[in-house]
Amino acid sequence: MRILVVEDDIDLNRQLVTALVDAGYVADKAHDGEEGHFLGDTEPYDAIILDLGLPVLDGVSVLEKWRRAGKKTPVLILTARDRWSDKVAGFDAGADDYVTKPFHMEEVLARVRALLRRSAGHATSELTCGPVVLDTANAKVTVNGSAIKLTSLEFRLLAYLMHHNGKVVSRTELVEHLYDQDFDRDSNTVEVFVGRLRKKLGVDVLHTIRGMGYSMTEMGNAG
Ligand code: CA
Repeated sequence: MRILVVEDDIDLNRQLVTALVDAGYVADKAHDGEEGHFLGDTEPYDAIILDLGLPVLDGVSVLEKWRRAGKKTPVLILTARDRWSDKVAGFDAGADDYVTKPFHMEEVLARVRALLRRSAGHATSELTCGPVVLDTANAKVTVNGSAIKLTSLEFRLLAYLMHHNGKVVSRTELVEHLYDQDFDRDSNTVEVFVGRLRKKLGVDVLHTIRGMGYSMTEMGNAG
C-alpha cells in the first residue's frame, strides 16, 4: 500500500514517512500544497495524510480540488489542537478522518490502517484468504496458524493483494502501489516476487490470471 504525506514541517514529514515505511508501506512526501496536490492528482495512492496548514495552497483547498476532480482516495487530515473549525472545514472538504497535533505516531498508524481496510471493504484488522491470515495491526502473516517471514517487498505485495482479495490486480497496478515515486520501476520484477511469495506461502491462494494479472482467492475458487 502506497501513502502520500503532505506536511511542510520537514522533521514531522520525515518522522511520518519513516513510521509508515517501518510499518510496511511505501510512502512519498510533499512539503507544500501545490506539490501535494500534484502528486495526489497524478499518482495512485491508497491513502493520504494531509496537513491543513500548508504553504502555497492550504490543505482544505488541496482536498477540495481532489474531491472536485473525483478522487476518492481516503484522506487523514492533521489539524492544530483546539481548532474545531478546521476539523469541520476538513470534513466538509471531503476528509475521512483527522488527528490532532501533537499526536502519537501509533494513533496515526492505527487510523491509516483503518482507512485502508475500510476503503477496501474490510471490517476487521485481520485479512483472511483461506489458510493465509494477515494481521494488519502488527504486520504479521500466518499460514495455517504458523508465522512466516517475508521481506518488506513480499509483505507489501501480499498486503496489497489481500486488501483486494478476490479481485484481479494487474501487474501495472502492483508496480504503482509497491514502489515509491523515486524507485526505478520494472513490472517484470513483479513476476519474480510473486513467484517467491507463492513459494513462501506454500498454499494455493495466489493465482496468475493469464493476460490480466494476479488474484488472491481461496482454493477451488480460482478464476
Ligand atoms: Ca503545517
